[in-house]
Amino acid sequence: MQRDPECLFCRIVSGEIPCEKVYEDADILAFADIHPQAPVHVLIIPKEHIPTVADAAADKTLLLGRLIQIANSIAKEQELIFGYRLVINCRKDAGQEVFHLHVHLLGGRKFAWPPG
Ligand code: AMP
Ligand code: ZN
Repeated sequence: MQRDPECLFCRIVSGEIPCEKVYEDADILAFADIHPQAPVHVLIIPKEHIPTVADAAADKTLLLGRLIQIANSIAKEQELIFGYRLVINCRKDAGQEVFHLHVHLLGGRKFAWPPG
């Protein structure tokens, strides 16, 4: 599996940096965001180092779908019955800070549209 020793989220995957784990399987890890922007703020990441969603080639289609399915099941567990938002920031104009693909699951409050 592709790893980048300099990457913060690869270091969380390896256990070198601790996280508040929400879900884990062979390919995916989900953990609480350290600076939550909503009452529920979970990051769902592939264990493999893929820098941005734009770098996910066609052979990652199933993995991308699973990230969303896991986000949905965490939302269900968290009882976000009134809705939630899934966000993938891609590169600098979108405000991506950590260059390891991640889906934000945000819930527990109302969100504005359009986003800032
Ligand atoms: P993005 O701006 O989409 O790249 O989001 C990166 C997210 O990672 C931000 O919401 C940060 O709060 C979060 N983050 C940064 N460091 C950590 C960490 N050590 N553990 C959990 N979340 C983190
Ligand atoms: Zn990484």
